[in-house]
Amino acid sequence: MSLNDSWMQRDLAVLWHPCTQMKDHEQLPLIPIRRGEGVWLEDFDGKRYLDAVSSWWVNVFGHANPRINQRIKDQVDQLEHVMLAGFSHQPVVELSERLVALTPAGLDRVFYTDNGSTGIEVALKMSFHYWRNSGRGQKQRFVTLTNSYHGETVAAMSVGDVALFTDTYKPLLLDTFKVPSPDCYLRPEGVSWEEHSRQMFAHMEQTLAEHHQDIAAVIVEPLIQGAGGMRMYHPVYLKLLREACDRYEVHLIHDEIAVGFGRTGSMFACEQAGITPDFLCLSKALTGGYLPMAAVLTTDQMYRAFYDDYSTLRAFLHSHTYTGNPLACAAALATLDIFAEDNVIEANRALATRMASATAHLVEHPHVAEVRQTGMALAIEMVQDKASRTAYPWQERRGLKVYQHALERGALLRPLGSVVYFLPPYCITEEQIDFLAAVATEGIDIATRDASRASVATGPYPGFRDPG
Ligand SMILES: *Cc1c(COP(=O)(O)O)cnc(C)c1O
Repeated sequence: MSLNDSWMQRDLAVLWHPCTQMKDHEQLPLIPIRRGEGVWLEDFDGKRYLDAVSSWWVNVFGHANPRINQRIKDQVDQLEHVMLAGFSHQPVVELSERLVALTPAGLDRVFYTDNGSTGIEVALKMSFHYWRNSGRGQKQRFVTLTNSYHGETVAAMSVGDVALFTDTYKPLLLDTFKVPSPDCYLRPEGVSWEEHSRQMFAHMEQTLAEHHQDIAAVIVEPLIQGAGGMRMYHPVYLKLLREACDRYEVHLIHDEIAVGFGRTGSMFACEQAGITPDFLCLSKALTGGYLPMAAVLTTDQMYRAFYDDYSTLRAFLHSHTYTGNPLACAAALATLDIFAEDNVIEANRALATRMASATAHLVEHPHVAEVRQTGMALAIEMVQDKASRTAYPWQERRGLKVYQHALERGALLRPLGSVVYFLPPYCITEEQIDFLAAVATEGIDIATRDASRASVATGPYPGFRDPG
């Protein structure tokens, strides 16, 4: 038995994997990884895979990065953890100072949690609580875009709209206002991204005009709806949204958990709209993809609405046990150092250009409806019928065929349904981008070759994290 097989069997005897129909593993081998280096992951049989999706969008400077490793090693000898209520430590103070300095003016306070979903919960609870503390307790509801994703905990699911993750749990969810997304894949022919996003704002304006008395906040994934299939829109929407939120006295929550830290081409997506949200939620690449941590940045105005004598019970009594973990803070500090020292945002421009040129030929593919890109995220949407943009039935799991082909060729490309995408670490080279484009092209050819062959027997409908 190979080492891979032996680890796989031990794993499947005791583990229950995330976002997985475990029965799939009767056919689909699990891949035990022994080590990582840069963009590469290596399994127990010595086969290497280029991590084109940054291990679920977290890894920006490669696996086992020597600079991040060293910082964590130094920190672990000093202090591994201390509770953050009543106590503080050097890495958390330094990281908070750095984040306040790095993010748009006005975001002056940082609250930590230990993953993205709980960061969203904090923003939602703080917004709701702010209005209560301000004598406007009727502002309780949230506005969200169709096809959005904000995490897996119950309130985070409530403000999401990817049916695969939320439909089953509907009876548990908060009642939110869902506004049609500015998603430019859906724009009429001949209309620009900017025009379409601007026109779609009318729906948001209408919801805010009608219901602002009852609305606490609007939450959006700025520029890219990741889990919803890497759907993209123009920054003008965020600008209009900021103006409207000010006019109607509604908070604006930016979920930059996936798009923060350079993914859209700027350090934060909100920079492209020239705005400051009331809440900025960060996670994923925050620690370079090393350790779980999220940061929720907010304004001094928000902070002051909670600042009072204890007996008034206005405080935000929310905590997660590992809040502000020093090792995670150390990884984040090392990550921010690399951004600054290596001038990463600038250097990424050439890589983004190469991602575009390496995939440009796919626009002509008979089963590709669109190749779209925002900065260091590029997505290729496969369709059954190109002219009408008819999607493949989800049961056919076309993306899974691309995933399987890529693994054979030594690449980790994990499509979202029929959307093949590259979200690579920033240490990728231009030659490696060309390799990914070649593998994706072969995979798409294989996946779309035969219109009727695909199996429809098992599996959930495709979406985030599902190699459908
Ligand atoms: C991944 C993600 C989340 C949830 O983060 P977790 O750490 O998985 O809980 C929330 N919002 C967006 C936009 C994400 O991509």
